[in-house]
Amino acid sequence: MTVTTQTTQSERLFERARRVTPGGVNSPVRAFKSVGGVPRFIDHADGAYLTDVDGARYIDHIGSWGPMILGHNHPAVREAILEAAQGGTSFGAPSVREVELAELVTRLTGAEKVRFVNSGTEATMSALRLARGYTGRKYTVKFRGNYHGHFDGLLVEAGSGLMTNADRLGTAAPSSAGVPEEYAGLTLVADYNDPDALDQLMRERGAEIAAVIFEPVVGNAGVLIPTPDFVDALQRVQQVGALLIADEVMTGFRLGLQGACGLLGLQPDLICWGKIIGGGLPVGAYGGRADVMDFVSPQGPVYQAGTLSGNPLAMAAGLATLRLLEADPDVYARLDGYTLRLAEGLQAAAQAAGVIISINRIGSMLTVFFHPGPVRSYTDAAQADTAAFAAWFQGLLARGVYWAPSQFESIFISSAHGDAELEATLTAARAAFGELR
Ligand code: PMP
Repeated sequence: MTVTTQTTQSERLFERARRVTPGGVNSPVRAFKSVGGVPRFIDHADGAYLTDVDGARYIDHIGSWGPMILGHNHPAVREAILEAAQGGTSFGAPSVREVELAELVTRLTGAEKVRFVNSGTEATMSALRLARGYTGRKYTVKFRGNYHGHFDGLLVEAGSGLMTNADRLGTAAPSSAGVPEEYAGLTLVADYNDPDALDQLMRERGAEIAAVIFEPVVGNAGVLIPTPDFVDALQRVQQVGALLIADEVMTGFRLGLQGACGLLGLQPDLICWGKIIGGGLPVGAYGGRADVMDFVSPQGPVYQAGTLSGNPLAMAAGLATLRLLEADPDVYARLDGYTLRLAEGLQAAAQAAGVIISINRIGSMLTVFFHPGPVRSYTDAAQADTAAFAAWFQGLLARGVYWAPSQFESIFISSAHGDAELEATLTAARAAFGELR
């Protein structure tokens, strides 16, 4: 396979971008800070491939961090967007596609009502405000290493060194500058996959807790898969009157039409979506129990609004994507089969090279941890060898394989990935593992 070394145009653009944009990017992980090297500026994308401004072509393993489950530039999605654009790009008044997408999402997921917003962050932020408004309680619970967007109240991750107040179980410090401690103090933090800790927190503080928000399968510490005991503990939080909020921004329509909750048999009160629900355009949504959703304005007292919410282009892209997924009953089995073969091939390649890794995979989400495993929590993941990951990432990139540029992320396979992409990826991976010795 061709080794790509030419990055002149990306370097030039990165230099220009850094002059006018913090870090040269509009979302931090794109800067390749943890893996080094120059971030590739993308010229265009098609199917399973990205082409950068220097003309190098990569097999894409991030799919815009999840939305592109059908591959880039899918003809039916593109046509739907173009057709919508013919009729104007934004109305600031209700229109038919919002109703159609809401009907489709409620039918597929079992949520009774849904409200569209413009990003995953807006979805989780709005769902938490709603939970507080509905329950009249102040505190929320999240899990260490789960990410729910950059809303202040959820930018609380609390590595052990950040625990501020040991006598207040679970209270933790903010993980970003600019988030006041008083505000972060309303977010309690527990360990993922630790059912006893969650039970204890709910016993001690349950009556004050408006909601527990969680990733039903974690993508944001790398992939972490919940244990059955932890799933049971999550379902129990409803017993103290706290709302259970599943953040399916990554997993919704990715792990099946019913999302991760469908796979796990979990029944949350509210669900947050993003990514695939917008088919590659900026969309988020939250929905769930009608009696809770009816607290949202203008029906209820919890305010939430958006100039571009329900945007006709975004709704058209989401509708086309979800309709294609629903019309192809085998699509999730094919994604699962491809990603399983990828996992097996990567494990064998690492073993042949004498490199110790541990792979977490579910459906078309996968993380190669440079760690002997098992990796079940943020604490496990944080022990991975990030230098080895970075070297392996560069080895892949140089061979035309674009992997997620961080140890603590999932990759996302699309239905446009086929045998040729699998073989080429494994060939590159074998060589990249070989270089680590
Ligand atoms: N929740 C989860 C689980 C996510 O993975 C993300 C983004 N990766 C978000 C929320 C935030 O979504 P957005 O970037 O669209 O604001």
